[in-house]
Amino acid sequence: MIIVMKPGTTPEEVNRLKDEVELLGCKGSITQGENYAIIGLVGDTRNINVGQLEARANVAKIMHVAEPYKKANRLFHPKDSVYKIGESSIGGKELAIIAGPCAVESEEQLLSIAKDVKRMGATFLRGGAFKPRTSPYSFQGLGQEGIEILKEARRITGLPIVTEMMSPAQVGAFGEEVDVIQIGARNMQNFDLLKAVGQLRVPVLLKRGMAATLTEFLMAAEYIMAGGNEQVILCERGIRTFETYTRNTLDISAVPVLKKKSHLPVIVDPSHAAGIRWLVEPLAMAAVAAGADGLSIEVHNNPEKALSDGQQSLLPEDFKKLVDRIRPIRKVIQGE
Ligand code: PEP
Ligand code: MN
Repeated sequence: MIIVMKPGTTPEEVNRLKDEVELLGCKGSITQGENYAIIGLVGDTRNINVGQLEARANVAKIMHVAEPYKKANRLFHPKDSVYKIGESSIGGKELAIIAGPCAVESEEQLLSIAKDVKRMGATFLRGGAFKPRTSPYSFQGLGQEGIEILKEARRITGLPIVTEMMSPAQVGAFGEEVDVIQIGARNMQNFDLLKAVGQLRVPVLLKRGMAATLTEFLMAAEYIMAGGNEQVILCERGIRTFETYTRNTLDISAVPVLKKKSHLPVIVDPSHAAGIRWLVEPLAMAAVAAGADGLSIEVHNNPEKALSDGQQSLLPEDFKKLVDRIRPIRKVIQGE
C-alpha cells in the first residue's frame, strides 16, 4: 500500500503519519519527491482503516500496489540501485563483469584464471566452493578450503569475490568475508536460505529459478530485502522450455522487464543459459544490448579437464574477445 501525501505536507507530518501507521503493525518507508512525499507500507496492513486514512487533510490518495513485492519495486525507489563493492560496482555506469570458473578446483587453477580475467577486464571473480550438482556423484566443491582460495585470489588480484551459499548452515563459513553471496537457481525459493542471507549485510546475487516467473523471482528478492539486506542483484540465467538445443533458454526480455519493475541491478549469465561455449559470446552481446548491468561468465584455463561445466567455459583468450566485443555495444546503449 502506498500513501501519497498532498503537496506542501511538512516532513514532520509525513514522519508522524509513518509512525502512526507503523503502530498498526506494518513498516513504512518515506520517499520524498519534488512535489509529493509517499509512504510505502510493507508487511501487515490489515489493521489500517483505508477510508479513514484517505479522509485525512494531508493525504492525497491511497494506492494499492498490484505487485506483491514492495522493497524491490521501482515505485518506492525510482532510482537505480548501485552498489560499490571493493573497487568495483554493480548497477551504475560501469558494466559489471563477473568471471571465473564454475568451481574452485585448486589454488593453482583459481589463481591462474583470476590473474587472466583481471588483466582482461573482469571486475569480479566468481567460483563455486559449495556446488549444487545434479548428481551426488559429481564434484561437490572444495567447501571451506575453496573459500580460503578465493580470498587468496582476491588478495592477489584485488577482485571482489562472488561465491554460492547453499544452506543457512554455511553462514559461518562465509562470514562477512565473501564480497557477494550467490544464491543459485535451484535455491531461488529456498525460503530459509533467503531469510538467512536477509539477515546479513552482504550483497546477494540471486539467480532466477529455472521455472520461476518474473514475479516469483522478484518475490524471492523481496524475501531477502524484507530481512533488511537490501543489496540484491538479479541474475537471469536461462529458464527451462521445450527447446533442448541449449541447456536453458535465455529469457532476454527478463532484462528490460525486471529493470522496468525493479530498481535492483540486473545481470545475465549467458554461460548457464547456453550450456555451449560458442553461444556464450552472442548471448552476452544480446544481454548488454538489452540493457543488462553486468554479466557472469564461466572461464577455465583447461575446460577439457574442468570438474564442472567445462563445455560452457571459455578459455581466457576467448573471454578477452568477448569483453572486447561487448564494450562498444555498452557504449551505444549508454548513448556515448
Ligand atoms: C553457477 O553459477 O555455478 C550455477 C550453479 O548456476 P545456476 O544456479 O544458475 O545453475
Ligand atoms: Mn557452472
